[in-house]
Amino acid sequence: MSQSQLNFIAGEWVAGESETENRNPSDISDLIGNFAQASATQLDDALAAARRAQAEWAATGLEARQTALMKIGNALMERSAELGELLAREEGKPRAEGVGEVFRAGQFYTYYAAEVLRQIGDTADSTRPGIEVDVRREPVGVVAIISPWNFPTATASWKIAPALAFGNAVIWKPANLTPASAVALTRIIAEAGLPAGTFNLVMGSGSSIGQRLVESPGVDAISFTGSVDVGRGIAKAAAANLTKLQMEMGSKNALAVMDDADLGTAVTCAAGGAFGGSGQKCTASSRLVVHEAIHDEFVEKLVAATKAMKVGHALEEGTQIGPVVSAGQLEQNMDYVKLAGDEGCELLCGGDQPDMAHEGYYMNPAVFAGSSNDMRVNREEMFAPIACVIKVGSYDEALSVVNDTNFGLTSGIITKSLARATHFRRNARTGCVMVNLATAGTDYHVPFGGRGDSSFGPREQGGYAEEFYTSVKTAYISSGTP
Ligand code: NAP
Ligand code: MG
Repeated sequence: MSQSQLNFIAGEWVAGESETENRNPSDISDLIGNFAQASATQLDDALAAARRAQAEWAATGLEARQTALMKIGNALMERSAELGELLAREEGKPRAEGVGEVFRAGQFYTYYAAEVLRQIGDTADSTRPGIEVDVRREPVGVVAIISPWNFPTATASWKIAPALAFGNAVIWKPANLTPASAVALTRIIAEAGLPAGTFNLVMGSGSSIGQRLVESPGVDAISFTGSVDVGRGIAKAAAANLTKLQMEMGSKNALAVMDDADLGTAVTCAAGGAFGGSGQKCTASSRLVVHEAIHDEFVEKLVAATKAMKVGHALEEGTQIGPVVSAGQLEQNMDYVKLAGDEGCELLCGGDQPDMAHEGYYMNPAVFAGSSNDMRVNREEMFAPIACVIKVGSYDEALSVVNDTNFGLTSGIITKSLARATHFRRNARTGCVMVNLATAGTDYHVPFGGRGDSSFGPREQGGYAEEFYTSVKTAYISSGTP
């Protein structure tokens, strides 16, 4: 990738008013490139272009829209090895996870390519004789998409794909920590034959260009994934303009391990769910709620499995846990390790910074025992490879601990009892529930979202996405006097 990477506005690649540097968190001597930061005027240009292009795109016809989405999806899947490596290089997740993410991103486009042809409305007779009613969905208009760095290509794609499929124009503000993946995806979309201005990339910081975007009256709908604090600010801006809004935010997911659990499954799910992606997943299980009858045996096996996980450079063979994304994230993680100790948890392994061949943001995954659910480490999202074990005496206590949180994205239970699994599935107050599976790991053809502080507005993904990306129109038709 060459050094200066540009924004894509109104169908043109344009330099910004300044640039930001992007470095590899596995090896900070590796400069990935310099990325354009859009000016306020450029954002306004993008908004004006999107407004013009949206009408053209919506009128393009279903087959042309379907063809464009297929093209984007197939290109991502065909090039997943190359683009997945770039993603891993800038974000820090192991190469295989980067490749898997880009492939998955492609599947969002091919899935929504098919949804383009599945847009069928309702008809009814009016209560008044001689009048018919036609109910159909229309594009919502110009959609602002604001995405995080932890799944830079997949999260953006599960928003961009339905936005385009349902005939909308897009302004995309990706996270400034992962701009290379954003430019790579934009290049593919730029080749799909959309009318100029239908899709716009505006890189820049959240506090400047992101804030201006969400405050703009030229936006009809905002889809945001990120932290709760930023989400609250966006909700205020959206409310001021009465802009349609959907947000997926942080969480504090719990995995309950019952006395009848298969311990092999429990340890695999706990270690994978807590430490996969260096714990930087909104679906990560940082709270492990463990029945006292198997507590000691489970913890011993979990510590052994955690110590066996290989921390390394994202692009090196055999790496299971890459670095965390940034210096700021690493510093915050170290503060949480210290806090866990101060709150009285017992550190069983990890939580330190290993000596590595390259200078990067590495830490060993940490397991803490002896934690209780009222501690800050069990209430705040850490977004770190840190898991805290909470010992409980019964299934009922486990369920109440799982539900005792301000968040509500995912939860999980490991048990062989159908009765408990069923009760948990129906009583866990989360948007997603996993039975004998890790809390992380979801499909693309079914809805995704949470409750409480984790989510706001309609669900994302699968057919449910049409609720956000369309607006319902009810037409009354009288054919006149026969
Ligand atoms: P973040 O700081 O909230 O940032 C998310 C996005 O919002 C970035 O593109 C950011 O831009 C932008 N932004 C920041 N301030 C803004 C403002 N005032 N106005 C408009 N946009 C603004 O979150 P993050 O640190 O990137 O990501 C981690 C968080 O995302 C975690 O809390 C995690 O749980 C959550 N997450 C949730 C899900 C889910 O589906 N529930 C999935 C993945 C991640 P810049 O960063 O470029 O400044
Ligand atoms: Mg951030």
